[in-house]
Amino acid sequence: MKIGVLAIQGDFAEHITMLKRLGAETAEVRLPRHLDELDGLIIPGGESTTIGKLSVDFGLLEPLRQFGKSHAIWGTCAGAISPSKDARRAQPLLSIMDITVARNAFGRQVDSFEADLDIPELGEGGAYHAIFIRAPIIESVFGEAKALCTLPDGRIVAAQQGRLLATSFHPELTDDSRFHEYFLSLAK
Ligand code: GLN
Repeated sequence: MKIGVLAIQGDFAEHITMLKRLGAETAEVRLPRHLDELDGLIIPGGESTTIGKLSVDFGLLEPLRQFGKSHAIWGTCAGAISPSKDARRAQPLLSIMDITVARNAFGRQVDSFEADLDIPELGEGGAYHAIFIRAPIIESVFGEAKALCTLPDGRIVAAQQGRLLATSFHPELTDDSRFHEYFLSLAK
């Protein structure tokens, strides 16, 4: 199993550490050719405008779209914005997932928070402790996408569409590897 992590901006190193812990081979992806022979790709958190602009500059947008047609892709936080079909602003998007997102939906950096979530797909192990840092919200899922988990007030913070995943929060910043394991099961 070889998983790439988009490594042009953001916390890609933390994802790579977690993937290695789980025994996966990893690759840093900066150019289209780095997608060759990967089983899946993670788009990390960071700044979605920067990730979007650099993806265009490095000629990655269309190759990533094609990759997503037959492979697993998981976007965390800022990374969850790229796969969406609508981010309510002009921003380069992959437009491969039937979700709409809103950036910075919980407010500013000081409004960052942590929450215990119930995510049945992660199986045993109890509540999942999630870290939200200037996080986007998944405003809606439609078409082929489904909500994987919501906050107690009903707002969607994780969604799945086949082998595509989007999470508002940062599993790579915790010790809990269940979300990465779940992604590896989709990439198989
Ligand atoms: N606020 C950032 C954005 O919208 C996301 C922050 C993060 O990834 N932690 O690009």
